[in-house]
Amino acid sequence: MIDLHTHTTASDGRCTPEELVARAAAAGVRVLAVTDHDTIAGCAEAADACARAKMTFVPGIEATAVVDGADVHVLGYFVQTNSPALLSFLAEQRQRRVERVREMIGRLVGHGITLDAEAILAPALTDSTIAVGRPWIARALVEQGLVPNIAEAFNRWLARGRPGFVRRIGASPEEVFDRIHGAGGIASLAHPVLMKHDEWLPQYAQRGLDALEVYHSDHDQLTTSHYLGIAKTLRLGVSGGSDYHADDAHGGGRPGKVSLPQKHYEGLLRLRAARRAKASSAGSVSSS
Ligand code: AMP
Ligand code: FE
Ligand code: FE
Ligand code: ZN
Repeated sequence: MIDLHTHTTASDGRCTPEELVARAAAAGVRVLAVTDHDTIAGCAEAADACARAKMTFVPGIEATAVVDGADVHVLGYFVQTNSPALLSFLAEQRQRRVERVREMIGRLVGHGITLDAEAILAPALTDSTIAVGRPWIARALVEQGLVPNIAEAFNRWLARGRPGFVRRIGASPEEVFDRIHGAGGIASLAHPVLMKHDEWLPQYAQRGLDALEVYHSDHDQLTTSHYLGIAKTLRLGVSGGSDYHADDAHGGGRPGKVSLPQKHYEGLLRLRAARRAKASSAGSVSSS
């Protein structure tokens, strides 16, 4: 099995990278990407654990871009995790996450809900490589008995249009593609069914998007063949994964629940090689 979409405690997943790799290995995954929201902090530990388990590790990211206040999730694969430009971009994204979550908690106070912002934010404030997100507020609401579950926390308070919602400020999809390419990676548009704007895909393909996440836990068979067709028309690669968070509220129930067919994984490897060849020829032109 090939699972190229998973989360860890470096963002809103519930497993440490090591636990994630153990679960993935037990489920029969042999190629695993960790794709945390706006951080690569889980990659080093996951890479070590994959090496011990004799699994192939793909360093990844799920960067959050914004269009008209709506989120566009962009996956980056094969990124160099020591790229200073990528690291500083992600640090900015995470700083904006801290500000947004603080503001959202402030909104909730206005509705008679008192949450301890500093306690919720603590892991991200203690370690700035950890990315906070709305699920951390959702968990606090559940723990305090204010909502029965995470889904209800979003439906009542945290989703777009709900009282606690604050618009995100962040990079455009095009900027995210460039940042990923700058770090030697390729960009894939995550779970297009959740973006709900297929009409944006042609312009993204023109502007540097390399692949489309055709296989995903939220895609049924019909949706999968729909996006397979779009990827073919737009000459995009195909990526896929479970979006495992170790959390019933979101993503697949286990790593490998959604597996990318090998031929598409090989297509992603070819896209990486093509990007790197392009980058090195551009580099030799500019340095001559
Ligand atoms: P953020 O990046 O802070 O806006 O949080 C977005 C994350 O919240 C997503 O990656 C999901 O993991 C989670 N999420 C978004 N909507 C829902 C929902 N309706 N129910 C459960 N989790 C959600
Ligand atoms: Fe998430
Ligand atoms: Fe996502
Ligand atoms: Zn995800």
